[in-house]
Amino acid sequence: MHVELVLDAKAVLGEGPLWHAPTQRLYWVDIERHEVHEFDPATGYDRAVDVGQKVGTVVVRRRGGLVLALHHGFATLDLDTGQVTLLADPEAHLPDNRFNDGKCDPAGRFWAGTMSLTRTPGTANLWRLDPDLTVHHVLGGVTTSNGLVWSLDHRTMYYIDTPTREVAAFDYEPATGHIANRRAVAAFPEGAGSPDGMAIDARGMLWIAHFRGGRVSRWDPAGGAMLQAVDLPVRKVTACAFGGPNLDELYITTARVDLTDEELEDQPHAGGLFRMRPDVPGVESFEFAG
Ligand code: CA
Repeated sequence: MHVELVLDAKAVLGEGPLWHAPTQRLYWVDIERHEVHEFDPATGYDRAVDVGQKVGTVVVRRRGGLVLALHHGFATLDLDTGQVTLLADPEAHLPDNRFNDGKCDPAGRFWAGTMSLTRTPGTANLWRLDPDLTVHHVLGGVTTSNGLVWSLDHRTMYYIDTPTREVAAFDYEPATGHIANRRAVAAFPEGAGSPDGMAIDARGMLWIAHFRGGRVSRWDPAGGAMLQAVDLPVRKVTACAFGGPNLDELYITTARVDLTDEELEDQPHAGGLFRMRPDVPGVESFEFAG
């Protein structure tokens, strides 16, 4: 399957791709460069805004503008003025943690998890920013919070805490956002890199980025089988999101963080934004309803 380099961004840690269908733009972040990006595939123009601190992920706010999960809490961003406005910092007491991956659920709540910058096991958490701007603690004992998606029937939430090397599923209650009954539905084999960002396709199958594994793979959460794997010309594959006019393109972010000069020579497009066309389309992302 052909994988195309669409933007030779040379991101240090490209992450958090999110397709916004109403504007046909792809939002993504470079965590280490403190940048939020807005990519327009129609023109190839990529706008970057410095938000002044590490930024784990970005979602679109229904009333306009963006909402971020930053090193130091949830914030809004006005892309035109660059204005960042802090909403809440639930881990102000944990300065060695920063926000990492996150997504909005079908009811427009923004879920985002943290990670330990010192990789201290179990010190991170999963949080939820509700449309009324209240923050709720969802899960503790997390190490590196990643990959969040909801099943097509909105009754299951899939989640990755990277060092567990598995995809966890929870029963999910759309009306309240309550989750329960955690279980593992897929296990990442040794030697395949680490499971990182995740997307879901229109048949309910999961697409997972392999950090240090140089690929994205498609998984059936009922049974846990890996159905397909697609290699990229870079090793640090971080996250993926369906996009394009027909939602049948998979955008993939990558990183060049901590690569040696020799590795950079072998992977000149590390940190680039890639795109492939799976045989199945994806589903639209959800906006923040607050
Ligand atoms: Ca990630």
